[in-house]
Amino acid sequence: MKRFAVIGNPIAHSRSPAIHEAFAVQLGIELQYERVLAPLNDFAGTLQRLQAEGFAGCNVTLPFKVDALAYAQQASERAQLAGAANTLGWAGTSIWADNTDGLGLRRDIEHNAGWPIAGRRVLILGAGGASAGCLGPLLEARPARVAIWNRSSDKAVALVERHRALATQHQVDLSALPLIAGEFDAVINGTSAGLGGQALALPNGLLQAGGLTLDMVYGTAAEPFLQWAQAQGAALRLDGLGMLVEQAAEAFALWHGQRPDTAPVLAQMRRATP
Ligand code: NDP
Repeated sequence: MKRFAVIGNPIAHSRSPAIHEAFAVQLGIELQYERVLAPLNDFAGTLQRLQAEGFAGCNVTLPFKVDALAYAQQASERAQLAGAANTLGWAGTSIWADNTDGLGLRRDIEHNAGWPIAGRRVLILGAGGASAGCLGPLLEARPARVAIWNRSSDKAVALVERHRALATQHQVDLSALPLIAGEFDAVINGTSAGLGGQALALPNGLLQAGGLTLDMVYGTAAEPFLQWAQAQGAALRLDGLGMLVEQAAEAFALWHGQRPDTAPVLAQMRRATP
């Protein structure tokens, strides 16, 4: 039986085992998927142990996504642009890396919510690993404009510069914002502010009435942002659960060559989320 894991620190909260097990049952694939707590200073040692024990692949979460890319011998273009990886696989002794966060976000918005991104104006709040992973696939959906704001503005500027060529290729007006301002059809919260119960200071008028909002966190942590979204008249108010299930489906497809039907698994996860 093939073995998989999600590596992080902390890791007890991770929903990835339940999601991958549900996909496996659906497709009749036998696998074991477990949570692995890596010491903060020994991600490499944890990877070596999993390889020695014959694991076939792993997902990687906070705070190791940048390390995951660094330890891989081959990386997809989107993982390289993101500067981070959330999916690893072993091919013999060599490790390959990919980043499925952005594919998951795009699929949740375009397929699950039925909201085409092409031609829209999109604001991304935050320039950490999650936002970095999402930017490439978002640009490939050809929005008219993408603006990124981050509390530490240098990170937003660096992220924009890394994606400049991709934005030009897809004719997207890409910029870093020093202040949260403007008018957008979609506002995506990629900060972890909600995890600390904090609400970002967002101005009125930022979101075009009837627009889309998405917080990458889920459960109670998404409430401050989604309450703001409701007050702004957002037509779609999504939390990060759809993105979580969709990014897992992309990782599953990379490992097993089959993409599961995500709708029943998302419904199952939604029922289990407070
Ligand atoms: P990082 O630690 O890499 O980045 C955190 C980001 O949040 C940074 O941009 C940081 O700004 C910003 N931030 C944190 N606190 C505040 C605050 N009080 N006010 C304003 N900005 C703040 O984390 P990730 O990017 O990996 O993850 C971000 C969130 O997305 C997490 O909550 C994570 O759970 C979620 N996520 C969800 C996924 C899903 O599938 N649904 C997948 C991946 C992540 P600064 O740079 O200034 O510190």
